[in-house]
Amino acid sequence: AASRRPLIAGNWKMNAGGQDACPLSAAVAKATRELTRAEVVVAPPFTAIAAVAHELAEAKSEVGIAAQNMSAEVSGAFTGEVSSGMLKDAGATWVILGHSERRQLFAETDESVARKVASAMAAELRPIVCVGETLEQREAGETLAVVERQVRAVLDELAKQPGFGVIAYEPVWAIGTGKVARAEDAQEVHAFIRGLLAKASEDLAGVTRILYGGSVKADNAEALLAQDDIDGALVGGASLDAAGFAKIVDAA
Ligand code: PEP
Repeated sequence: AASRRPLIAGNWKMNAGGQDACPLSAAVAKATRELTRAEVVVAPPFTAIAAVAHELAEAKSEVGIAAQNMSAEVSGAFTGEVSSGMLKDAGATWVILGHSERRQLFAETDESVARKVASAMAAELRPIVCVGETLEQREAGETLAVVERQVRAVLDELAKQPGFGVIAYEPVWAIGTGKVARAEDAQEVHAFIRGLLAKASEDLAGVTRILYGGSVKADNAEALLAQDDIDGALVGGASLDAAGFAKIVDAA
């Protein structure tokens, strides 16, 4: 992880989108203020992005904001969708794309994720692209093939601006299950992903941060973040508690 600044991103999912968003973001800002080694990002639901942006600006916080999804379209007749421009206006500078919950529950495909990544990059919104195998795929020995297919779908886009985008390796069987990947197993996939990035360019491989996600908690973060190719974490459940989240940031 040597020269790459660690990134710890908290995915709030469909939680803390109302009155609780500002207090949570303020608590994260406060708890991580002194922990400057890692870059910190929170991903609230759409409805809370503007309020959280206001809260973090008031606190003069360096904590960044990610959306959890985005339309690939710029504007128009797409009822219920939210564009990159809207997210930027609201105060987001990042967007999580291709989260496994979106792939599994909302029929997102490698192709739609690639379109969203292209659209985000064009709008200068930094994508956090999620990849990872299901339990079934892991047991069938397909982990690397699945991850390769998912990474290849976005490789050309990410190569246009090395370091701007981030990849999050999130084994689906480890998300929200309490079953964290063993640090060495995660490292193996991270190294494989870096090898895929190197096929586009050495520069891309050198500067791209690859986050691990899947039941990261304060007590398992250190071992994961100590691995050479693990440059940070995408944290779901544990990001809803500011003190616990700050412990993960501190481990980076
Ligand atoms: C996630 O949603 O990206 C995630 C990793 O969730 P959890 O940490 O709860 O497993």
